[in-house]
Amino acid sequence: MQILKKQPTVKAPPETFTGDAWFDVIARGEEPSRIRVSVVRFAPGARNAWHAHAVGQTVHVTDGIGLIQSRGGAVVEIHPGDTVQTPAGEWHWHGATPGHFMTHLAMWEANAEGQEATWGDLVTDEEYGAR
Ligand code: MN
Repeated sequence: MQILKKQPTVKAPPETFTGDAWFDVIARGEEPSRIRVSVVRFAPGARNAWHAHAVGQTVHVTDGIGLIQSRGGAVVEIHPGDTVQTPAGEWHWHGATPGHFMTHLAMWEANAEGQEATWGDLVTDEEYGAR
């Protein structure tokens, strides 16, 4: 058994996030587990860039009001208690609405090569506002 003391909160990097967001790492599995769990807090208007997870991702909203969109799909509002599963390789983004903070648990895995996600362009204001 291992008890991990709370780690410092980390600011999300501007290369892959628009606006202000913070990560609290909850779990980083040791082989053979490759699980990754973080609490991610988005300020109003903040969102991550277009990305695709190597082994998919599950997001569970715990606070606030968020937005999520898959490539080619509608921008969808998500609320506390909602769980969104994104399959491996599906391009998408997620973040807060313009008027609310949003916090979610993000759960994903690395693949056998240690790859976790592929990152693309930042989400433009036009894409973000397309509701
Ligand atoms: Mn994601």
